[in-house]
Amino acid sequence: MRRLKIAVSACLLGDNVRYDGQSKQCEQVVNLCSLDDIEVLKICPEMSGGLPCPREPSEIEKKTFRIYSSSGKDVTNQFNTGAQRTLKYCLNNKVTFAVLKSNSPSCGKNHVYDGSFSGTLVEGSGVTAKLLQENGIQVFDETEVEELLKILSKE
Ligand code: SF4
Repeated sequence: MRRLKIAVSACLLGDNVRYDGQSKQCEQVVNLCSLDDIEVLKICPEMSGGLPCPREPSEIEKKTFRIYSSSGKDVTNQFNTGAQRTLKYCLNNKVTFAVLKSNSPSCGKNHVYDGSFSGTLVEGSGVTAKLLQENGIQVFDETEVEELLKILSKE
């Protein structure tokens, strides 16, 4: 396996950067990141976009694709800024893979909450996950570490 740079959601590594000021540490992701041949670049697009911690939870409005906090504040610009800064960071560092937190309006891959703040998931990706994928970075979530390890073993 050659040395690879992987972008990882900071909350999955135990950093208290989530909206509620907590983390979502995932042991499988922590173990992946401890492998010798992997260089980890921690990211948190929402904080990179200028949002504070803690902050209100936000969701993507399903018709307009704008992003609102739970009190109705439009935070689309901060989310887009965070996504653009994260992409630039990844490209500058030649990142080819990312492991991102599922269901997040920034980092979620394939599923996000539907904008009603009722806990309902719908198909779709978070703004950063989508942007990274559109730019050739392979995105996995924390439930797909085994799949990523198989790919990495062939690199
Ligand atoms: S933006 Fe991504 S890295 Fe930051 S707290 Fe949300 S899911 Fe975690």
